[in-house]
Amino acid sequence: ANDFAPAGRFAPSPSGDLHIGNLRTAVLAQLFARSSNRRFLMRVEDLDRVRPGARERQLADLAAIGLGWDEPVTLQSERYDAYASVIGGLVADGDTFECFCTRREILDAPTAPHAPQGAYPGTCRELTEAERAERRRIRPAAIRLRADVTSFTVTDILNNEFTGDVDDFVLQRNDGTPAYNLAVVVDDAASGVDQVVRGDDLLTSAPRQAYLATRLGYSPPEYAHVPMVLNADHKRLAKRDGAVTLADLAERGVDAVSVLSMIAVSLGLADQGETVTMDALTERFSPSALPRDPWIFEAISG
Ligand code: GLU
Repeated sequence: ANDFAPAGRFAPSPSGDLHIGNLRTAVLAQLFARSSNRRFLMRVEDLDRVRPGARERQLADLAAIGLGWDEPVTLQSERYDAYASVIGGLVADGDTFECFCTRREILDAPTAPHAPQGAYPGTCRELTEAERAERRRIRPAAIRLRADVTSFTVTDILNNEFTGDVDDFVLQRNDGTPAYNLAVVVDDAASGVDQVVRGDDLLTSAPRQAYLATRLGYSPPEYAHVPMVLNADHKRLAKRDGAVTLADLAERGVDAVSVLSMIAVSLGLADQGETVTMDALTERFSPSALPRDPWIFEAISG
């Protein structure tokens, strides 16, 4: 699927407004992509937890601070057929199994020997057809990947080689919704994304996704998991920390241009108070000079 120009992307979930930490990750995603001559794509991950109006506000905020994308925005909610066909292929090849476990049952089951902590315990992996038929009468099945490794190594520009756990993770939930891990891998491959820049809260998901990519015959992307923005208590910045969205900041007299400039200062790409554009930042950007420490954002309390 990678037969066109490589790309980077930003993939927000429209569950609420973006805060300055999310905006900073988006800026980095564009800088990484454009400074390496990649296309920059925007994908809305709206398979679940959608808040009405959030997508429109997120895209407007991203545009307001100066981001631009090279192709029309794609919506995961319009790609159910693509996910179904990939899942169907894995099912037909015997690479999956039906799982009837509840969350509680998974937590209570003993972890299989040699399996990573918190891994799927394998309860439904070897059910007979008769056992499956019996369980289908009780609840619908989720579909899990039959993983043949327990860990996988990814290449991360900021974290070197990162090895993390892989288990029989869910590809399709029991309500029929494709799982996040599946959708991300299918979409990145379908749009030529070979560079994934996102918050480092997702670093531990990368081995599963990269492993799934190889199972599907795609080359895994290179990753850059960037430090999250923290609040004054050094906890992950959240909306309750006060004025952290573009709308909040605007109310306090900080306009979108100033927000881009604050982000640029935090990245060591601009001087305090300097007005910058994304083009200027792209010229200055160098991944190796990126600050490795999290940015502590002292929100103006609301
Ligand atoms: N939609 C995810 C989020 O907003 C990001 C997924 C990704 O970048 O792979 O946290």
